[in-house]
Amino acid sequence: MKKLTVNVGNVSIGNGGKIVVQTMCNTPTADIEASFRQCVELSNAGAQIIRLTTQGLKEVSALKVIKEMLRDKGILTPLVADVHFSYEVAHEAAKVADKVRINPGNFAKDHDIAIREFARLTDICKEHSTSIRIGVNHGSLGDRIVEKYGNTPAGMKEAAMEWIKMAENNNFDRIIISLKASNTIIMTKAYSLLHDEMLKNRVIYPLHLGVTEAGNGDEGRIKSAVGLSALLSKGIGDTIRVSLTESPLNEIPAADLIAKFFEKPGRYYTVLEKIQSGNLNFSYNTETWDEFILEAACEIGPHLLEKSIDDFSVSAFVAGQAISNHLIDNFKDNLMQAARRRFSKPEYIACPGCGRTLFNLESVFNEVKRRTSHLKGYNIAVMGCIVNGPGEMADADYGYVGEGRGKVSIYRGKTPVFRSVPESEAIDILLKLIDSDARNIVSPPQNG
Ligand code: SF4
Repeated sequence: MKKLTVNVGNVSIGNGGKIVVQTMCNTPTADIEASFRQCVELSNAGAQIIRLTTQGLKEVSALKVIKEMLRDKGILTPLVADVHFSYEVAHEAAKVADKVRINPGNFAKDHDIAIREFARLTDICKEHSTSIRIGVNHGSLGDRIVEKYGNTPAGMKEAAMEWIKMAENNNFDRIIISLKASNTIIMTKAYSLLHDEMLKNRVIYPLHLGVTEAGNGDEGRIKSAVGLSALLSKGIGDTIRVSLTESPLNEIPAADLIAKFFEKPGRYYTVLEKIQSGNLNFSYNTETWDEFILEAACEIGPHLLEKSIDDFSVSAFVAGQAISNHLIDNFKDNLMQAARRRFSKPEYIACPGCGRTLFNLESVFNEVKRRTSHLKGYNIAVMGCIVNGPGEMADADYGYVGEGRGKVSIYRGKTPVFRSVPESEAIDILLKLIDSDARNIVSPPQNG
């Protein structure tokens, strides 16, 4: 069995090494000062790898300057260029960044061009010691893959395998793979299928784990913890991102807590034995609320997701104070929903925002949540940009997609129903659309 370690700048990923915690800037990369400042803050907060959106050549040049400024300051944190829709940009970014993230679903217009241009990318990466993340997303699988395998975990696995083979054909092995989805069942299934296939092929590439568009607050943290822990508890996964619709600074402590939890593997197995003996009374005594919800989600979440348990009870002391039944019930509701066992509120799909976001995504998302909280059973997306948002919002029933400059598109499924509506009216229009659909046609969608 060949287990690969991939170096991204000065950080090694894979082959049973420590779990590497990463995040992504939400500043416009072309705003060099703001992006540099955020990289410094993120690095000081413990980010081991930082990704920046790199949508064009202007951003590649900015990334180069940002990297030089960081290195001048003695900050060696590796930088990743996030590239969509342009192999030309990927080629240039590979000369600058420590890793380039590409999305097989939008790397090139057709497969023959993809094979040719990916080969060119691997040549550039060899020359510059750059690694590549093959970043497959459930919401943006290529048409060819969807036609053949459906928009499914198996399709995600096949997309990844196709690009792994392309890398191998070019004698390039500095690759890391991700198969992100917002739905924890789809996400864990896709990674498990890929891991099985790699075992069969006897070559294990490092995996970057993430629940994409997880949202914010407790829901976002718990959803991420359930998806990540279901895999990490089986030894699957080498680097993680907890993707939150909040400041990226908040992603680091959440990811750190999850990574640290799995640095003590004995802890997980103690819980497993407890569950196997039928003892489902869990108690926690932690310093912070986040520590409690993340630890509990890491311990209990995988068993709910895999249906080895159906229910549980929890008591908790946080900073010495007993947690009220009301808060415990709320936590239980969030955990049951994250594991897709019981839906007590709408399911939200919200991207974390990045340099493409031109509005205050976090506050808009909170307002959408406030005004749609009664819509149990619906999947509602809030996405930060019109370029990737509609593709990435996977199986949302309705979507609020920021166009930038105060304008918003409102989607029903994958179809834009209203374009360029003013931001001040957008949530009203979204609610009216949902309401009129409920009156006129469709029965409310069902999660499951
Ligand atoms: S969907 Fe969100 S995270 Fe993805 S590119 Fe657009 S703004 Fe950035």
